[in-house]
Amino acid sequence: MAKRAKIKDLLLNPKFGAETNVKGWVRTKRGNKNIAFIAINDGSTIHNIQAVADLEKVDETLIKLVTTGACISVTGEIVESQGKGQSVDLLVSELVVLGEASAEEYPLQPKKHSLEFLREIAHLRPRTNTFGAIFRVRHAMIFAVHKFFNEKGFYNLHTPIITGSDAEGAGEMFRVTTLDSENPPKTEEGKVDFSRDFFGHETNLTVSGQLEGELAALALSDIYTFGPTFRAENSNTSRHLAEFWMIEPEMAFYDLNDNMDLAEEFLKYLAKYAMEHCMEDLDFLNTRLLDEEKNLKQEERSELSLIERLQFVVDNDFEQVSYTEAIDILKNSKPNKRKRFKYLINEWGIDLQSEHERFLVEKHFKKPVVLYNYPKNIKAFYMRQNDDGKTVRAMDILFPGIGEIVGGSQREERYNVLKTRIDEMDIPEESMWWYLETRKFGTAPHSGFGLGFERWMIFVTGMKNIRDVIPFPRTPGSAEF
Ligand code: ATP
Ligand code: MN
Repeated sequence: MAKRAKIKDLLLNPKFGAETNVKGWVRTKRGNKNIAFIAINDGSTIHNIQAVADLEKVDETLIKLVTTGACISVTGEIVESQGKGQSVDLLVSELVVLGEASAEEYPLQPKKHSLEFLREIAHLRPRTNTFGAIFRVRHAMIFAVHKFFNEKGFYNLHTPIITGSDAEGAGEMFRVTTLDSENPPKTEEGKVDFSRDFFGHETNLTVSGQLEGELAALALSDIYTFGPTFRAENSNTSRHLAEFWMIEPEMAFYDLNDNMDLAEEFLKYLAKYAMEHCMEDLDFLNTRLLDEEKNLKQEERSELSLIERLQFVVDNDFEQVSYTEAIDILKNSKPNKRKRFKYLINEWGIDLQSEHERFLVEKHFKKPVVLYNYPKNIKAFYMRQNDDGKTVRAMDILFPGIGEIVGGSQREERYNVLKTRIDEMDIPEESMWWYLETRKFGTAPHSGFGLGFERWMIFVTGMKNIRDVIPFPRTPGSAEF
């Protein structure tokens, strides 16, 4: 029996005249009484291979079972294609139906389905061209993340998923407990007694690996984490998931400028890698986006196509702007003066909303923006304070269509300053003693940032909803599959 080949390899390097075996899922079947043309896809590439079955040689009852969605195994000779647009055909000598898919019941018929509908059948959507392309690009990006850091001498660090500290301050957390929810043990004051829980105290799913990442950076110099993070924020937006993946490098001896430069270099590397390794899938996603935006008004359409956008990121320096400068720009902007912003900008110190971030990126600078030196009162306790007493060495990178894609900072390495800030913000010190000790023993200037992997995937695929760039999205009210 001929060996199985992946369709990607067959199309790339066809051995005409050779016998081969292909296994995959039927996309379409057409033909007539004498001949059937079957398009097969095995997920190795966006392209299908066409199997050509002479109905005098292949059993008719078998051909009837070859319907969209069925899984088949075909063996035959590789020949040059007669049809237009294809290069290679497989002349069927043997056909086995591995798994039928009833034409009445199979939901993925060869027609256009909405992304909303496909979310409801997330168990089958990887079989569409769109999701096949997205998940292949996702894989390439995961690989590129590790490649980038490995080439720079960073070590990948696994930080805990269950955490006992609730001090990261990144929003609501999911509790992890084995206590009986019907009848939990109570303290004398009538509160749930977490000292009798599995870990002897309250635990949650992590919102970030940063604090533990810092511990390792103060020993290994350069580390990065790439793990799942969880946020129970009930924000039903197209940019938030309850479970998402985050990449968090942490570097000893980096100041804020080094940190910003590394983040920019990293994003450019990912964009370049995608263009060098995923062009077929990107071409498909590019066309998909143009098609999706055809129905939008001119001013709502993206100015650049997907591929142009990636090229733009590679070719252009990001704009570095301080928070104070950004507030001035926003205060004097048209949408602010005409009260078009939902949240008007009138004073220094307020947190920026997504509408402001997108104005800066899409309308004002027309390129990715790195905002730095934020007011300390809107940022986390661990960010290094500037000498002005008002700002901290924070930086956010803002991208078109998304807003914040990276959040980072130089960390406060001075024991006394950090301790004072922890007290000011009423953070329970007993949960942070280990973090503080790193500032007591051999502290060093250090910095890091977090890239939300799915936010990056939105950018690189041109999808508009974060639910469509992760295989099985978790969002408020939804954790099926
Ligand atoms: P936002 O203001 O957009 O909610 P954040 O300030 O909460 O973001 P950070 O706590 O700085 O974000 O997290 C670091 C990065 O993780 C963000 O820059 C973003 O890329 C990503 N991120 C944050 N929250 C989510 C989420 N709920 N779903 C997906 N990605 C997220
Ligand atoms: Mn958030």
